[in-house]
Amino acid sequence: MKVGLEVHQQLATGKLFCACPTELSETTGLTFVRRLRAASGEERATDAAAAFQASRGLLYRYESGPSNCLVESDEEPPRPLNEEALDVALTVALLLGCRPVDEVEVMRKIVVDGSNTTGFQRTALVAVDGHLEVGGKRHAILAVCLEEDAARKVGAASGEVAYRLDRLGIPLVEIATGPTIASGPEARQVAQEIGALLRATRRVRRGIGTIREDLNVSADGGQRVEVKGVQELRLLGEYADREEGRQRLLLKVRDQLALRGARAEAEPVDVTSELSELRDGPVAAAVKAGGVVLALRLHGFHGLLGAQDGSEERLGRELADQARAAGLGGIVHSDEPPGRALPAAAHERLRGRLGLGGRDAFVLIADRSPERARRVAAAVAARAAVAVEGVPGETRDPLPDGRTRYSRPLPGRDRLYPETDVPPVAVTEERLARLQASLPERPSATLGRLVSEHGLAPELAGQLVYGADLERFEEIVRRGHPAGAVARLLTQELPAIPVPDGAPPFDPSTDQLDELLRAAEGGRFAKEGVPEVLRQLASGAPGLEEAVRRSGLSGVDPDELARVVERIVQAQIALVREKGEAAFSPLMGDVMRELRGRRDGREIADELRRAIARHRAPAAG
Ligand SMILES: [Zn+2]
Repeated sequence: MKVGLEVHQQLATGKLFCACPTELSETTGLTFVRRLRAASGEERATDAAAAFQASRGLLYRYESGPSNCLVESDEEPPRPLNEEALDVALTVALLLGCRPVDEVEVMRKIVVDGSNTTGFQRTALVAVDGHLEVGGKRHAILAVCLEEDAARKVGAASGEVAYRLDRLGIPLVEIATGPTIASGPEARQVAQEIGALLRATRRVRRGIGTIREDLNVSADGGQRVEVKGVQELRLLGEYADREEGRQRLLLKVRDQLALRGARAEAEPVDVTSELSELRDGPVAAAVKAGGVVLALRLHGFHGLLGAQDGSEERLGRELADQARAAGLGGIVHSDEPPGRALPAAAHERLRGRLGLGGRDAFVLIADRSPERARRVAAAVAARAAVAVEGVPGETRDPLPDGRTRYSRPLPGRDRLYPETDVPPVAVTEERLARLQASLPERPSATLGRLVSEHGLAPELAGQLVYGADLERFEEIVRRGHPAGAVARLLTQELPAIPVPDGAPPFDPSTDQLDELLRAAEGGRFAKEGVPEVLRQLASGAPGLEEAVRRSGLSGVDPDELARVVERIVQAQIALVREKGEAAFSPLMGDVMRELRGRRDGREIADELRRAIARHRAPAAG
């Protein structure tokens, strides 16, 4: 298996071609709609992905916010390239041992899903030919690019997709590795290392969706398939491994099809009248609505559309994906057991009508719109024909459960064109010397420093460097809090705070965390109470004061502490007199049940020891 990674990281430098801020916004004002049409280039060829997308006939709605200018809506030419963003990209390139280009030329790259108001994405090659050592293995870095992020998808209804312009134009540093990665876990490791390197520049945006990965996967004998836009690093390895499994299944099916001399017929047969007496199910619904049922004949495909040896993937799903991409809910095929959609008698009748033998299969496409049914049938037939050859190269979407789903064909190669509105930028020796002189600390060096300077355990230090919270850690430690407590707060206590399903993780501000730690250190509540107070803040307590109150952790003063301890000792006075210090453990349990989190555990223990010493019987002899 061969895997290559493309990592895209948003920068916090202001937008790439205008002066708008890089913060997302929930406020919108102006809304406008556009359509995209595929046009042929100078050599008369039309990009396959563009033609496919245009055939879907979608309307694109764009929401512009108060912090967007006319550059994002493509009503005004772009300004010159953001020099600060270029500095960050060049810095990353130098850290990766890449060779910077002499002159940065901005290009237009066709984008077909409406996520750019221009119909293209501006992208610039910054450096090539570097390498990255991960776990003792050297991975090739093919290129470092600087490009603009796309608009943010905020909704999709039938025939329409809505985008918000706040994200459009945020600078992205793109790092592309060679196909040197050999497994899912390795892909995740490399992505982690690249992420840490990017964050080392201290100029990146943080939070969900600010770093995204594309995976190029090909199994041995398979094809390059691109899984695009992975936001969850923890699933990266799973996407790679499952894609390999999917390609292996398709290759196994191909070999079977070859043995049988299988072939898919491109022309569908109209079987609407054959199925007119069906009572319910999707096929019957389409017929009743005045639609059509088309059948595709797949010679030699019988038994190969369903699961093979318990595989999760199946060829039937690949065909159904094509139907879905072309706008239909699903298909019915002959490897599915007879049921509601197609009773056994109808199966047999269709086989006869279609002239199919025992090794043949069929697929039904039922839709109220005959035109759409024909389009879907053509897409499904084309996909079935490719099954005889093996794995089609394509773009796939990552799903939340670790699987992927067909999204569109791979874009053609010829989709770059010079952006004549943006002047090129020469990369001077002086600039490179300046950046080289101020290169940030590498992640491995940072890890070592956290261990030696702050006394953190290497594992905890690693979580900070390879997680996303290093910058925040340093900021909070600078405000005078002990490093160990801050590290635990950011890497363990905070991520463990439960949030309702589907809600974003609880993400308090640096100031809030500072205030929280200050209160714990000042004895307002015990340090063990930090997670409970966080939980109260996460579930909506307005401010720290109220969170502490709701958590029932308001601290006890020394007098109250002494009173509580005395009361508990008196309740067990016989035990104390008899056992002396040995009564400490059982009594400590009783005391902690009342005071846990309200006063430092060590102070409570000291108070209890003193009380026991006062009350125990004088030592004999
Ligand atoms: Zn702008």
